[in-house]
Amino acid sequence: NRKINSVFAPPSVLANPMNVPVKLLMGPGPTNVSPRVMQASSNQMLGHMHAETFQIMDEIKAGLRYVFQTSNPWTLVVSGPGHLGMEAVLVNLLEPGDKVLIGINGLWGKRAVDLANKLGASPIPLEQETGKSISLDEIEQGLSKHKPKVLFLIHSESSSGVMQPLVGVGDLCRKHDCLFVVDTVASLGGVPFFMDDWNVDAVYTGSQKVIGAPPGLSPISFGPRAVEVIKTRKTLIKSYLLDMNELTIQWQCGDPSIPRIYHHTPPVNLFYALREALAELTEEGLENVWKRHAQAAARLHAGIHSLGLKLFVQDESDRLPTVTTILVPEGIDWKRVVQFLMEKHLIEIAGGLGPTVGKVFRIGLLGCNATPEKVDRVLQALKEGLEFAKLQGH
Ligand code: PMP
Repeated sequence: NRKINSVFAPPSVLANPMNVPVKLLMGPGPTNVSPRVMQASSNQMLGHMHAETFQIMDEIKAGLRYVFQTSNPWTLVVSGPGHLGMEAVLVNLLEPGDKVLIGINGLWGKRAVDLANKLGASPIPLEQETGKSISLDEIEQGLSKHKPKVLFLIHSESSSGVMQPLVGVGDLCRKHDCLFVVDTVASLGGVPFFMDDWNVDAVYTGSQKVIGAPPGLSPISFGPRAVEVIKTRKTLIKSYLLDMNELTIQWQCGDPSIPRIYHHTPPVNLFYALREALAELTEEGLENVWKRHAQAAARLHAGIHSLGLKLFVQDESDRLPTVTTILVPEGIDWKRVVQFLMEKHLIEIAGGLGPTVGKVFRIGLLGCNATPEKVDRVLQALKEGLEFAKLQGH
């Protein structure tokens, strides 16, 4: 910027109106938000210590307990994206040198390994081919061999489109005296998940996926075994913002007679949006939302086959309804297709991520976009995009 006397000149770019076109977001997230959610986030600010905000926070906790299917008092929200949920779980549960067994069948398990390393813990990779889930047998072998303090699994590997079966894993973890942690960022709300029944000790998700709020909040829940581990740590939690002992007071997750104290200033307008997104989800009913996502995915998968394309995940039962991965056909430049959809139709789909870069397209069916009408729109656009890329390729 040019200086006039000793002051930088005001940036002329800000004199232009902001450009926010309406796009159909059919990638792996964020998804579009409903008009009700959009309107909610534009309400005037409240202070974070106002009674009305506390009530909204309490309503969010109730909504999250429903979506996580848990009665855990420590069910709250971390002020940040899904990554911060991952950090919150690991930084609270792990101490230096603690062993954490991490399922890796795509990008997200690797991300958790990186994070565990930064925290000075000892991550042990439990590796599986990209595009396949990890079997109960493989998990049990890992638990027996390594005796970790924590098992960390990705429910919804959004880089590969794999859904990790979770039934029975929590019981194995109890048997091997291990905490069971699950990342549900790309799945929660879109597929059945039962935190209490499945003996999951800690879980987190993201606001911008099936829940259908803007990005920037990470709902999180800790069960009693995880709380006990946090309460009996030998070392301090290596984070101020994510210290659950502090944060659960601001969120009043324990005794209601203990007054809330200011911990940090959270994004209150995102709370409005999350509260309304949870209200919409509750009105529709969790089982209906699961069903809507399953039906939309079945329609998408049938349409993909009709276009002569192949799904990346071979085993049908491993396919994640919320994020579908499609093999890029030979001779097609995937970037051209993605670009065509954006430029011609204002529709976002994504290419691969991490180990699937260049190999797949990823289409998300998240929240209000998991409908037959949106599926048909993205299929039609994809068909045109492939024809365009084929012509360009010649
Ligand atoms: N875990 C999974 C499985 C995800 O799909 C994502 C986001 N795509 C994240 C974690 C990270 O979430 P965020 O981008 O909100 O930080």
